[in-house]
Amino acid sequence: APHSASGERMELHDLAGIAPPARAAGPGRRWMPRRVVATPAAYDHPHGLRIMRRLAERGLEVERLSGNRLTGVRGETDRETYARAKSTLAIVVSPPSRRTLQPIAPSADWRVDLAEGCPAHCQYCYLAGSLSGPPVTRVYADLDDILEGLTAYAGTAKRRPEEGTTFEASCYTDPLALDHLTGSWQRAVEFFGAWDENVQLRWTTKFAGVDDFLALPHAGRTRVRFSVNCLSVTTRFEGGTVRLEDRLAALRRLALAGYPVGLTIAPIMALPDWQEHYGLLLDEVAHAVDGVPGLDLTAELITHRFTPGSKDVLTSWYPRTQLEMDESSRDRKHGKFGAVKYVYPRATMTALRTWFEQELATRIPSCRILYWT
Ligand code: SF4
Repeated sequence: APHSASGERMELHDLAGIAPPARAAGPGRRWMPRRVVATPAAYDHPHGLRIMRRLAERGLEVERLSGNRLTGVRGETDRETYARAKSTLAIVVSPPSRRTLQPIAPSADWRVDLAEGCPAHCQYCYLAGSLSGPPVTRVYADLDDILEGLTAYAGTAKRRPEEGTTFEASCYTDPLALDHLTGSWQRAVEFFGAWDENVQLRWTTKFAGVDDFLALPHAGRTRVRFSVNCLSVTTRFEGGTVRLEDRLAALRRLALAGYPVGLTIAPIMALPDWQEHYGLLLDEVAHAVDGVPGLDLTAELITHRFTPGSKDVLTSWYPRTQLEMDESSRDRKHGKFGAVKYVYPRATMTALRTWFEQELATRIPSCRILYWT
């Protein structure tokens, strides 16, 4: 029964006030929401109806809301609200503001959102502090319009002109956590595959459901990166995602199917003996890409950081987290628009960066580093 999948069990952990353990899960793991709602406007869009059909085939019932606001998500406590929201999928129309794309350095020229929210439970989650309100996963019914709207941005490449104009589709979500329920990213891959200009769709994921992507006419215009980390991080802090070995197996399969692929090594943590832990990770990656003909592999290296806002949200979601978020051991920096963030001190940053640059060159020579932050 689909409802016996992880979502419900995680919810019980959350209600008990226990941070959900990062559990090992096989590649076949698929999130099944406990509740699915749709706004009336979602019914006016062909993709909204496609998603509903897909969900019906999986035995999921869609509840039609009476208005375009999500209701019934708040619980008695923050923990209960978190648990309810994380097990709810909402089919909605994207906010009109999203049609004007924003630049998204350093990953891509533009950010495009096909959904917002993610059913996983990473204790350092990037969404904490960025999104407001309960963390419901919203998928967009107006996908066709969103994709058509991108054509106005072709030819605006600034970041890495050799890759064409790049569009990042995982700023606020994890595509492979949701695609089995929506098909949205499969359609996006096909859209980019048929697009006769130098463009690239890109996203990063901690999931491994790539079966439906292998035979798509992608034309090499989608780069799928897998978010990876040393086992000490993946097994302790990434609840509800799939195992590292399954992500790497999925990366290999996409690479063999001719996709450009990538690693998002994030968040890099200066744990005790980090060289040893990350050395093992790089060796696993080298093994996963061994012998792939025409491999096009990149790496994006992102160190752990937090903001006062993200720390507050994360400690309310995961009160027992072991994640280090100690302001006194960090450097305080001002990000975009003056927002404060806490990053590793300069000496630690230099040691990490030097090590990663050297070791990637030695252990996976074909891998191109796109940026370090
Ligand atoms: Fe957050 Fe990404 Fe983890 Fe989802 S997979 S919970 S978006 S960090």
